[in-house]
Amino acid sequence: MSGSRSIEDFQRRIEEIYGARDRARGVAGTYMWFMEEVGELARCFNSPAPNRTEEAREFADCLAWLATLASLRGIDLAAAAWEKYGAGCPRCASSPCRCAHRAP
Ligand SMILES: [Zn+2]
Repeated sequence: MSGSRSIEDFQRRIEEIYGARDRARGVAGTYMWFMEEVGELARCFNSPAPNRTEEAREFADCLAWLATLASLRGIDLAAAAWEKYGAGCPRCASSPCRCAHRAP
C-alpha cells in the first residue's frame, strides 16, 4: 500500500481493488451500491446506540463507491474537488462561505 493517504491515491487504490468488477457492472449498478451505502450512513446517524467504528466504516464505504463512480466516469475526484472548492465557496468565493442560502 502507498504511503500517501490523499484522495487521489485512495481513488487509485479502489481502482486497483475493484476496477475490473466495477467496469463490468457499469455506472447504473454501481450507483445503486453507492446509494445503499449512503442509506447505511443515514442509519448510523439515526441509530439510538451510535457505534463510531461502524460509522467510520460507512463513511469509508461511501467514499469508496463515490471514488469508483468517478473512475467509471473518467473523473479525477481529488482534482475535481480542489478545482471546485479549493479557492473557497464556488458561489461567493469566500472561506468561510458568506452565501445567505447556506445560513443554518
Ligand atoms: Zn458561499
